[in-house]
Amino acid sequence: MKTPQKATSNNIRKAAKILAAGGLVAFPTETVYGLGANALNAQAVDKIFKAKGRPSDNPLIVHIANQRELKMVARDVPEVARKLMKKFWPGPLTFVLQKTAAVPDNVTAGGKTVAVRMPKNKIALALIKAVGCPVAAPSANLAGKPSPTSAEHVSEDLDGKVDMILDGGKTFHGLESTVIDVTRKKIEILRSGAITAEMLAKVLGYKPKIVTNKTGAKGKVRSPGMKYKHYAPSVPLFLIGISDEKKMVRLLQKELVVLTKKKMRVGVLCVKEHASFYAAAKYPSMKKIVTCGSLKKPKKFAQELYNALRKFSKKNVDLILAENIGKEGIAHAAYDRLSRAATKIL
Ligand code: AMP
Ligand code: MG
Repeated sequence: MKTPQKATSNNIRKAAKILAAGGLVAFPTETVYGLGANALNAQAVDKIFKAKGRPSDNPLIVHIANQRELKMVARDVPEVARKLMKKFWPGPLTFVLQKTAAVPDNVTAGGKTVAVRMPKNKIALALIKAVGCPVAAPSANLAGKPSPTSAEHVSEDLDGKVDMILDGGKTFHGLESTVIDVTRKKIEILRSGAITAEMLAKVLGYKPKIVTNKTGAKGKVRSPGMKYKHYAPSVPLFLIGISDEKKMVRLLQKELVVLTKKKMRVGVLCVKEHASFYAAAKYPSMKKIVTCGSLKKPKKFAQELYNALRKFSKKNVDLILAENIGKEGIAHAAYDRLSRAATKIL
């Protein structure tokens, strides 16, 4: 059993030694916790796929701490990408670039491009600096589970499978980084995140297209990770897709009535101010309510979403009904993850 260890400078040094020796370390970033290995060591990277049960056709993001490391993994960095890096790095923006020969094939799932990010979290940066080389790190969850936003989530999923878990508390954004492809004429978003299309547009002069493929897509896809249903809780989830507040509440209430007739045990995921609308006294099928952020605080909703999803289990409910908080800005990223977690959108 590997209990999380506080991210003191001493433990960061220990973690760096583990990574340098080809081991696995889970560490916090400002998005979610990452499961790191030396990105230039194919055998170490292979351990990530094994520990997570991650399909080998799903490439990893390489995390760097400085320009020297960018040069080690990527070539032909376009001027416009440099402009975006200047504005958003360190931060939750990942660039898909042409890879160098130094990057092992398993990092990129055999492709010619590599995804690179400089995280903002101090622990992550200190760790990468201490190792002195780029660190490949997907989210530190078992494949098929929501990404971890606390060290406890990591330990729930990966206890005994990693050499060390660094505890840096709850992550700041709570959703994975925005991924952009900068290898084409026009920049495109492959995964939405805290850096929104609107924020990118201010630098680019145009709003980049969002081309994330649908869950379940077959064959070669632009954003391989997005075809997997890896944001899912352990029970089926129905997402209320209407964003109009009154209509959304009414539809969820209606569904609760339908599910009561079917004798289902239902979990409700909703914003704080709506909790009383779904009270068990009125809706006997409602067995567990988990509140997440508020309509006025979409950032908080994003931050708490994965933790909220992990609170439902087969033991307490048969199905989850989830509200949405709109589809613009950061709410877009939250909606994207919820719709991928969903069995059905109502
Ligand atoms: P995760 O680390 O779990 O957040 O997943 C990494 C994400 O980055 C996945 O959705 C991948 O599809 C995406 N990704 C990594 N490398 C590439 C690449 N070379 N081209 C396109 N997407 C990539
Ligand atoms: Mg992931």
